[in-house]
Amino acid sequence: MTNSIQMPAKKSLSDKIDKLLQQTEEAMKVNYDDALLYAEHALNLTRLLARKDKECYILFHTSRIYYFKGEYKEALECSKEAIQLLSYQKDPIVKYKVYNLRGAIYNGLGEQVKSLNSFLKALKELRVDEGLYEREIANLSINISNIYFQNKDYDQSLQILNETLPIIERFGYQQGLYLCFNTYGNIYTIKKEYDKAEEYFHKSVQINQSLKNPKYFAVTYNNLSLVLEEKGQVEEALEYVKKSLAINKKLNRKSTIIIDYRRIGVIHCKNGKFEEGISYIIKSLKLAEELDNRHEILNAFDDLAKQYAQAELWKNAYQFRTRHTELSNKIFNEDKTKAISEMQARHQVERKEREAELLRDSKEKIKEYADRLEESNQDLERFARVASHDMKEPLRMVKSYLSLIKRKVDKYGDKTLDEFMFYAMDGADRMQKLITEMLHLARVQTRDHQMREIDVNDVLHIVQNNLKETLNENNVQLQVGKLPVIQGNQSLLIQLFQNLISNGIKYNRSETPIIQVKCTETSDAHHLEIIDNGIGIKEEYFDQVFEMLTRLHNREEFEGTGIGLATCKRIVERHNGKIWVTSQEGKGSNFQFFIPKMDNK
Ligand code: ADP
Repeated sequence: MTNSIQMPAKKSLSDKIDKLLQQTEEAMKVNYDDALLYAEHALNLTRLLARKDKECYILFHTSRIYYFKGEYKEALECSKEAIQLLSYQKDPIVKYKVYNLRGAIYNGLGEQVKSLNSFLKALKELRVDEGLYEREIANLSINISNIYFQNKDYDQSLQILNETLPIIERFGYQQGLYLCFNTYGNIYTIKKEYDKAEEYFHKSVQINQSLKNPKYFAVTYNNLSLVLEEKGQVEEALEYVKKSLAINKKLNRKSTIIIDYRRIGVIHCKNGKFEEGISYIIKSLKLAEELDNRHEILNAFDDLAKQYAQAELWKNAYQFRTRHTELSNKIFNEDKTKAISEMQARHQVERKEREAELLRDSKEKIKEYADRLEESNQDLERFARVASHDMKEPLRMVKSYLSLIKRKVDKYGDKTLDEFMFYAMDGADRMQKLITEMLHLARVQTRDHQMREIDVNDVLHIVQNNLKETLNENNVQLQVGKLPVIQGNQSLLIQLFQNLISNGIKYNRSETPIIQVKCTETSDAHHLEIIDNGIGIKEEYFDQVFEMLTRLHNREEFEGTGIGLATCKRIVERHNGKIWVTSQEGKGSNFQFFIPKMDNK
């Protein structure tokens, strides 16, 4: 059932979720763990509401918090779930955000091919209307420039930045400016142009004064410390990295705490505090291993090897250098050769993903239809219950009061009232018939009818007995041939034959109504016919008569509800068969159906 929550509760629940999302955003500036709590609470509530689009959005937020915390594995899990729900999202910006974040996560995990793939997917989402999404495209460009940076392709990285910066400046996008300046700083640091690098980092700190993003302060302080260290300003370098660590600890941002520890360690070593320095680098290594952050493990190995070598502790230095080389080979060489083939296979992967997406979509559609069908069946079932209990009961009351009134009317003899009474009773009778027949129809569909071997000869005996009076009164000749044993449900088959034979008698003006019941068989089905010598049906109505509430005659001519043949059709369909009619007006009708043989499912 989808509607287990009442509307007012639904509304307040949805308000609560929005509030939690706001709280998540606010907490992001202070402490990621709190933010995570809010987001997860929001996620649970959304699942109660069964709002997949919102669930997707909150999963994205949750993934983002994990990402900021540096817990990339968790971040990846959440983003995977978000991607699975992406089909419920209409907004290309949300889709872009999800893929963009995934790119960043893969980048954090050192999976650069996958990272690039995700960024490209993000870009694809924005292609709908590039003019609208300049800011997002700029962000993506910076991300891609970062990947080139990490892959040591600094010229490519610079080129992308140079192309992106003017766009960002044009629309005064502060966060983009910050990211650009920061990447410039990083590139110039690598190029050993420290003054230029320092200048860019100061620019980014300045811009962040208005953005007030603690994470950005931490990043830049850490970068600055590196530059200052290279410039020989070791004390200042230590100051900056400690500032960064304080912020990161407050945010519980493990991915960068790793870097801070390592940097503090290196600076201490340079300052002659070797033991303290090594212990910081080891702390960094432990945390990196805990988070399975291969890049940082690699950096820690590298720094440890260097520091031990400086201290002329060759054995330790050799040990860490070996571990560094092994892991480095694994990440860069293996991944790079893999990358080439992966890149080649990318188009194929994309195609497969699209196919999978389509398949998933169609599976979801089928499930949706099945759910809807299930729901409408439940509605029908509910209707059947209402019809049987709730509707029948008041009707019985109407009828019994009507007969009480009739008795009084009879006693005091008012002829006009007599006529009114007749119509009232007649209406109630018809209503009762209609309800009963609707009920039968509903049951054909909703009940779980057991199928077993049924001798149709027995069915006909029962029907003959049920219709005994009608058959006698109307002087009917019922001619029954040899009938088969079929796989079916007895009570449904009784209804089927009884309806068809009754119609054959009712729609018949012959002196002697003749009804024949015959069966022939083919290799895979039983073909049954109920033939009458009645009034017949015009060819144009051959299909319509099986539709619910279709009647070809008014009540003055023939009584009826128009539900009987619709019920017959459903019964035959439940037996995997098909029903139809042929007829010659004035001569008679031939209702026929086939039912597949048992071993022919
Ligand atoms: P009902 O008999 O209650 O009106 P049915 O669904 O059984 O409803 O039949 C629908 C219509 O098909 C009838 O109103 C009648 O006009 C036509 N019909 C059904 N059976 C026959 C028949 N054996 N011969 C002629 N007309 C028929």
